[in-house]
Order: sequence, then structure tokens, then C-alpha cells
Amino acid sequence: MEKFKNVIIGFGKGGKTLAKILATKGESVAVIEESSQMYGGTCINVGCIPSKSLIVSGEKHLPFVEAMAIKNTLVQKLRDKNYHMLADEPSAKVINGKAKFISNYEIKVGDKIISGERIFINTGATPVFPDIAGLKESKNMVSSQEIMELSVLPKSLLIIGSGYIGLEFANMFNNYGSQIVVMDIFDNFLPREDTDVASRIYQDMTERGINFQLGVSIDSIIDKDGKTIVRYNGVNELIVDKILVATGRKPNIEGLGLENTDIALEKGAIKVNDSLQTSVANIWAIGDVHGGAQFTYTSLDDFRIIAGQLFGDGSRSLSNRGVVPYSVFISPALSSVGLKESEAKKAGIPYKLFTMEASAAVKANILQNPRGLFKALVDPASNVILGATIYAEESYELINLITLAIRAKLPYTLLKEQLYTHPTMSEALNDLFK
Ligand SMILES: Cc1cc2nc3c(=O)[nH]c(=O)nc-3n(C[C@H](O)[C@H](O)[C@H](O)COP(=O)(O)OP(=O)(O)OC[C@H]3O[C@@H](n4cnc5c(N)ncnc54)[C@H](O)[C@@H]3O)c2cc1C
Repeated sequence: MEKFKNVIIGFGKGGKTLAKILATKGESVAVIEESSQMYGGTCINVGCIPSKSLIVSGEKHLPFVEAMAIKNTLVQKLRDKNYHMLADEPSAKVINGKAKFISNYEIKVGDKIISGERIFINTGATPVFPDIAGLKESKNMVSSQEIMELSVLPKSLLIIGSGYIGLEFANMFNNYGSQIVVMDIFDNFLPREDTDVASRIYQDMTERGINFQLGVSIDSIIDKDGKTIVRYNGVNELIVDKILVATGRKPNIEGLGLENTDIALEKGAIKVNDSLQTSVANIWAIGDVHGGAQFTYTSLDDFRIIAGQLFGDGSRSLSNRGVVPYSVFISPALSSVGLKESEAKKAGIPYKLFTMEASAAVKANILQNPRGLFKALVDPASNVILGATIYAEESYELINLITLAIRAKLPYTLLKEQLYTHPTMSEALNDLFK
């Protein structure tokens, strides 16, 4: 049996960052990763980075094959960098293989048994496939990972699921010239967004030629002559080259041997306390595997919570994380943080609303995409910002500025009167808060 002070299962964002810190402090740390193609985790290899690289190339209208080559070079570079970041540390060891618990302290990897005084589970999430007759059997069905490995652009693409990941791929493949149909079993489009924002996105994407079929029940999927026939709503039929399933991701706990431990589960995720400890005192869970928001930066923040317990004052926790912003990389991008108008109304929270058309921002016009709108909610008593949703060019940068203001409890008037460089999207905040 090989003994380590720390064992991290999965090379995810939070886990690898923790491993580096532990190793630089001279503590022994093993990082077990099941695939040598996943060093660095989901984000770098099959998630954020490849998808955003392909989105950017699509916006530049590069040929698909060239875009794939650019993406592959970037991913390979980051994967190597991540591997060496840990493997080159004298007290760290990267172990290639699938980890399975055999007790609260021991893990089996191939024919090796590894033990850890502390164990951190960072195994991420895995796609959910809906139960549709013929879907699993179809040779043209792909996951988000597989679609980013295609060598030929599909002429026609059905995306099942109109959530944020589905929309990013719809936008991306629309830019490369694929015919896109997006189907969803639910008929309310982007239900978490305010209806004015959601309907604007729907309208813009529809105008770009993306065909939405919402409130649809898919009856069957059958491959024929290299293509796939999709029958839906009893009488309708669609023939496509590929089908992307984008119906969500669930915590990746399958085959982890949790039944051999005292680790408790909650709603299919590893149950953790406010400090990310599982029901076993020496085992923590990091990132997507413990449920909740699935972002690279929340996994990184999980690292901060754990590092604070091990080496700091332990005051950081899930409950004092504060607002978590998010961005959806469509065109223009949708970004949001904090309270939305619909939520404020429902909860009876008083608010002052500031709105502005994105076309009023000169930079949006320079960028030749003046579509979209800005919304911000302010507490009328304190002038502190409660939340903002920005559907506009470069909103993925602006939202971080607003998040900072919310966290620091700054009055909106500071953003209103701030000097911004010109011409930039952030200067739109001068006008938004007028
Ligand atoms: C297409 C797509 C686009 C995305 N875009 C964004 C985005 O723009 N911004 C953003 O913030 N987030 C994005 N995400 C989400 C983001 O990638 C994840 O939330 C994040 O990577 C989760 O990190 P993690 O630390 O939980 O673990 P992960 O990075 O998922 O790492 C888990 C690792 O564990 C390994 N593993 C699993 N089981 C075992 C086992 N039993 N033994 C050994 N190894 C194992 C896996 O191979 C994997 O490498 C996207 C996701 C997808 C799929």
C-alpha cells in the first residue's frame, strides 16, 4: 500500500490548485486522474476552454477545420502545462487510473491500493442523457465533448436542450454555417431569466436562423443512410446529420465505490457541510461533485474554503461565498449576478430599476453588435446594487465589475460617476445609472 498525507481524486480546478499548494508546502500529495487526456480537468480539456476557443473562431468565421486545429493546440498546451505544474513537484505524484474507494481511508487504482490521511473528491460532473427511444443507439448522437472532436462540420444539427450550454453550441455552430434546430421538452425559454431578457435572446437567435422547437416531445430517433430521423410530437419528422445532447450534467460519482465508505449523498451529489467536509471527517468534496452551481470558478473557490481550513483561519465557507456571477457566451453574451427583477417581485423586495438598451453604448456599435439590454436593481434605501443582468457585447467582463461593487456594498452612484476609459463597454455604466 502506498501512503500519502493527501489524496486528490480527479484533476479538477479546485483539486489541482489545492494539490499545488500542498506540494509547495512539502506535504505528500497524490492526484489520481482516470484519463491522461483530462489532466487539468473538464474546463481545460472538454469544457470552457475548447468551447470558447471554437466560439471565438466561429465569430471570426474561420473554417471549421482551422478552428478545430487552433482549439486542439491550445488544449494540448494547457494540458501539458497542468500536468507539469504537479508532476514536476517533488512531493506530488500524478497517478493515471480510475479511483475506487474500498474504505474511508483506502482507494484502489488498478491493482494498487493508496491511502490518504486526507482525501479530496474532485471528480466533476457527467452528462445526463434523456430517455428517448433510439437516442443511445444512434451513431450520430454526440455529447458536448464529442461534438468538439468532430473532424467534419455537420450540415444540420439538432440540439436537445435549450439551456445555457445548448445555446452556446447553437450559437457556435450557427456561426460555422450548420443548420440548427434546438428542441426542448419545456416551452418556457430560459426560465431562470427575466422574461424581457429571455424573449430578447430568443428573438435574436431566431433572427440568426436558429430554429427553436419548444414544448416538444421526441418520440423516436432512428439512423438511416448515415443521417438520423427524429420523430416528435406524434406527427412531425426532422432529418439531421448530428444530435447534440445538452440536457444537463450530474455529479460524477458512478464507480467511485462510495458504498464502501460512510460518505452520505444528497440528491445524487456528495453531501457536504458549509466547509465542504463530507460525512466522513477526513474526506472533503470539491467542485461539481457536491452539487450546486457548476462553474470552474466555484470549484476554485472551494479550494479557497479548504485551504483556509488547512492553513488559514477557516472563516471562508459556502454560506459566506456571496453572489456568484455567470456568463453565457452567446452573441451578444448574457451575464448576470445577484437579484433579478422577477425574483425581487416574487419576494416583495423593494427595488429601483435601471435599464438601458445596449445600442446606447457606443462601443457596442463599434463592435457592430448593438443588440441587447442592461438591467440593474438597486436598494432604494441604501443605494447598494442588488443585482444586474447584462445581455450585451463583452458583458462577461462588465459583470465582474458589478460583482465587485455588490460584494463591497458600493453605492451605484460610484459606478455612475466613475471615470472609465473610452470607448469601452464599461463606460455604459455611466449612462445605465443616470
Ligand atoms: C461544454 C462545457 C462548457 C463549459 N463552459 C464553462 C464556462 O464557460 N465557464 C465555467 O466556469 N464553467 C464552464 N463549464 C463547467 C466547468 O467546466 C465545470 O464546472 C468545472 O470544470 C468543474 O470542475 P471540477 O473541479 O468540479 O472537476 P472537473 O474539472 O470536472 O474534473 C474532474 C476530473 O475527475 C476525473 N475523474 C472522474 N472520476 C474519476 C475517478 N473515479 N478516478 C479518477 N479520476 C476521475 C475526470 O476525468 C476529470 O478530469 C463548462 C462545462 C462544459 C461541459
